[in-house]
Parts: sequence; C-alpha cells; structure tokens
Amino acid sequence: MIAERPEVEAAACADDRPSQTIVVIGTGQAGGWAAQTLRSEGFTGRLVLVGEEAHPPHERPPLSKAVLSGAALPETTRLMKPEAFDALGAQWRPNVQVLRIDRAAKLVMLFNGEALPYDKLILCTGGRARRLALPGSDQVQLNTLRTIEDAQALAPALTSGRSVVVVGGGWIGLEVAATARQQGADVVVVETQSRLCERTVPAEISEYLLELHRAQGTRVMLGAGVQGFSRAADGRSEVLLADGSALSCDTIVLGIGLVPNDELAREAGLACEGGVLVDAQCRTSDPDILAAGDVAVTPNPWAGRRLRLESWQNAQEQGIAAARSALGHAVDYQPLPWFWSDQYGMNLQIYGVPTPAHRVVQRGDKASGSFVLFYLAGDVVQAAIGPNAARDLRFARRLIEQRKPVDAERLADLGTPMSKL
Ligand SMILES: Cc1cc2nc3c(=O)[nH]c(=O)nc-3n(C[C@H](O)[C@H](O)[C@H](O)COP(=O)(O)OP(=O)(O)OC[C@H]3O[C@@H](n4cnc5c(N)ncnc54)[C@H](O)[C@@H]3O)c2cc1C
Repeated sequence: MIAERPEVEAAACADDRPSQTIVVIGTGQAGGWAAQTLRSEGFTGRLVLVGEEAHPPHERPPLSKAVLSGAALPETTRLMKPEAFDALGAQWRPNVQVLRIDRAAKLVMLFNGEALPYDKLILCTGGRARRLALPGSDQVQLNTLRTIEDAQALAPALTSGRSVVVVGGGWIGLEVAATARQQGADVVVVETQSRLCERTVPAEISEYLLELHRAQGTRVMLGAGVQGFSRAADGRSEVLLADGSALSCDTIVLGIGLVPNDELAREAGLACEGGVLVDAQCRTSDPDILAAGDVAVTPNPWAGRRLRLESWQNAQEQGIAAARSALGHAVDYQPLPWFWSDQYGMNLQIYGVPTPAHRVVQRGDKASGSFVLFYLAGDVVQAAIGPNAARDLRFARRLIEQRKPVDAERLADLGTPMSKL
C-alpha cells in the first residue's frame, strides 16, 4: 500500500536539503509516526513537533481499556521510549496550540506568539470529542474520553456501587461501558439509533454487541433520545430522555463521536469536507501541506469514496505515508480499513467496508463466541468482521486484498482451513 523506495534514495533526498524545516502539528499517533519516519527515512533538517497536549506522542486505544480500568499506567501509551524520542532530535513544543497557518509566508503561528517557518507542514491534528449543548448541560458534569487526562478523571468514578450513564452506543461508549461494568459499576447505555454502532457495522454485528452487553448486565436503551440534563435534589445527575423519563446516576459519559480538528486548515483556505481533503500522497490542496490520521479525508478505493478513518491503523500508516511523501518519496496510500475494539475480553475486528448490498457468509457458530461474517460482492470477499477470530481474519484480509474469488460453501465450512482458501 505504501510504495517502497530504496534506502539510498531517501538518504540522497535528505542530503540534498539539509536546511529544510518540517513542522508537524499534533503529537498524537499520526504526528508521532510522521516524526519518527522523517528521521528513519534520512531527514536531517530541522524537525519541529507542536502539540497542544503535555505528553510526547502517544496512542489512545488503551485510554478506554487498560488505562481506564487502572490496569496500565498512562505512560504505557507512549509511542516511543524517552531515549528514542530524544534521539529524534526534534524541537518539541508541548502545551502550545497552533493558532494560524500563514501559507503565503510559510509560517505556523503559535498561541505563545512564536512564528515557525516551514518548508513542509504535516497536519496531524486529529479530533476532539463531540459535546452536547442541551438544556441543563451546564448543571451536570458531562465527561468525554479522548485524552490521558480524560481517562484519569473518569477512572475513579467507574467503581462498584457507582452508577454510570453512557450517552452513545458507538465504539467509545461501548468500551467505556464494558470497562465500567467490569469495574463493578451499574451501567446504562443510551443510544438514539435503533441499533449499536449503526454508522460502522451491519445489523447482525450490532445485534451481537447488544447481546454481549446485556449478558454482562449492562442496560442498553435503543431509540432513546436525550433531551437534557438536570441536577437532582440529592446531588446526583439526571439524564432526561425524550419519552419524559429520567435516569439518575453518579456519572455521565458522552460517547457521541468525534469532531475533526480541521479549523486551522479551513482558516488557511485548504479544501476541507468533514476533515482535511488529501490525495493518495497525503497532500492537501496546498502541496507543501500534508495531513494524516483522524483529521484527514482520503480517497479510499475499498469503499469507492472518500473516507475519514478514525483508527489506530490509519493513524500509524498515514502518518508514515505523509512523512515519506513530504520527503518526496513515491507514496500511494490506499489502505484497506482495519479497526478493532476490545470489550469484556472480547476482541472484535473489522476489515474493509461492509455494505447492505453485500452477500453475507458466516463461518463459525455465534454461540461459540468466535465467528466471522464475510461480506461478498459476487464471489469476492469485500469485508470481514468477527469476534475472537484474529487468525481467520488475518487470512480474510489477504482474501480481500487479493480480490480472489472464493467458494462460499468452503468459506463457511470450519473444516476448510482459511489458509487453504
Ligand atoms: C479512547 C479511545 C480509544 C480508541 N480505541 C481504538 C481501538 O481500539 N482501535 C482502533 O483502531 N482505534 C481506536 N481509537 C482511535 C485511534 O486512537 C485514533 O484514530 C488515533 O489516536 C488518531 O490519531 P491522530 O494522531 O490522528 O489524532 P489524535 O490522537 O487526536 O492527535 C491529534 C493531536 O493534535 C493536537 N492538536 C490539535 N489541534 C492542535 C493545534 N491547533 N495545535 C497544536 N496541537 C493540536 C491534539 O491535542 C492531539 O494531541 C481510539 C480512540 C480513543 C480516543
């Protein structure tokens, strides 16, 4: 997917431009990978990493899982060991927001008044948790989960004897619900849509997730709109529902999606549409500005349309691709989407983009807790989803990438090893 070029070319490229400056905005996963890649591909110029957060580049998946449950420390989310980060020789500006990009002067203007010149700029600004402005929003504490600080603030509330209402039955909401439940909290998930993760998985997987959560004692309310919030006389929070009822709880968590941080790009006049538009070389409408990760909207041949992927895989691979592209290497970033989620010890993985038009072939028994649903167009597998089936799904990925026709009966037959398909 990311075109390879010989090492020698990378070195030559770096030597050609020793005085270049590359600025990376955002020290999440995409920004961290972009920075590492610039150096590993031989960039010897000035590398500046600007991040609003206090932390060096880090990954977010553990924040709703091991860090939230207290099983892992926040430091474990770091992308690099401190020595490796120092070895990058990057000028790191933590705790500072970029205010503006001056494309004419090729300057990045920081909140602290500093102006950073750039030759190439890589936007890895990710996104922020969506908030709800409803009546009573200011009367209660509405928690969200995006940052290390969010996880640290929320963790103490998810304990036995405490009650939590999670607004939103998407991935973050369900992972928070699962972690809270495993910590012994009483959990209610309130979802406006008629099924869980409606935007990202087919109905049969929504049904599986619903059964999983209910079996663990989480109350899931579907088709339940939230109209507002209030503070009850006893000091507890209340979530007011559209049917006139109210849910009283100790803690409210909003898991209602992500808003891409594309304001800098928009204000700089870059083409944006629900995020920053980039091509397969990760270039925005300004060829000296690239974008990667949750903020980038990329043409995706597997979906047949542009996609803004919110996944660990994309943050890493597109961060790498953007760095290589900034160095002038040949890049053709067309990732087969891959996402995973961990809930109650169950690992669900999704490859590709299933649609209602696909024919569904099931391999394995749902009751066993491990199965794969394949989504086919004709005889070709386009997508695959399954819980606790990592091995089969690795083979499924190959089938999808090779676009090889398969026999649906053999695909469904557990007696036929996936490797033989
Ligand atoms: C709790 C949680 C659990 C997840 N679990 C999974 C999972 O199990 N599987 C999976 O595939 N994916 C998961 N994801 C998604 C995955 O973590 C994200 O897709 C990935 O972190 C995106 O990385 P990013 O670098 O693009 O953006 P971010 O991680 O959002 O980083 C962007 C950075 O840019 C900074 N920034 C923004 N604007 C500015 C500015 N103007 N100036 C300076 N800095 C700025 C931000 O502060 C932030 O530090 C999860 C995400 C979360 C939040």
